Amino acid sequence: MLSFIKKYLQPDYHFNCMSDIDLKLFRESNIKGLIIDIDNTTMPYSSKKLQVVIKDWINKVDNEDFEITFVSNTIPKRADFVSNYFNKPAYGYAAKPFGFAFKRAIKSMDLSNEKIAIIGDQIFTDILGGNLAGFMTILVEPIESKDFFLTNIFRWFESLFYDRNKGLMQRE
Ligand SMILES: [Mg+2]
Repeated sequence: MLSFIKKYLQPDYHFNCMSDIDLKLFRESNIKGLIIDIDNTTMPYSSKKLQVVIKDWINKVDNEDFEITFVSNTIPKRADFVSNYFNKPAYGYAAKPFGFAFKRAIKSMDLSNEKIAIIGDQIFTDILGGNLAGFMTILVEPIESKDFFLTNIFRWFESLFYDRNKGLMQRE
């Protein structure tokens, strides 16, 4: 049981920030589309301040013809903001890690699951959901530590299974 849980909670890769990801990683793995988390992955949990490095990286990904869809458990208002900003689909109240959370994203990108990578800061939503769906899974460090109360509880559970600091390297 424990090894089953560990397998599904383990990200394929772990970066500090998504802007650290070299697009070579996607090309070499035949990844054509990205599902990106919003809160604490694309922008801070408590504001809509988009970091320049993240904006630039997302625009670069877009220019290199990867599909991009944002999927978040956040309120639809924040999803709409990101959608308008990047001119990409963004879905709020997604209920990650459950499979149906990704249905619209997969449909909008028109890609099979193994050609999709998910990028997010939470193991119990982004990584677990992504592993169950058969996506490449990429964990990033949260942009800010101030986060929703429940998230902090989840992080405590996460620490039982995964040492974020120890895992902070690209696993080949
Ligand atoms: Mg998040």
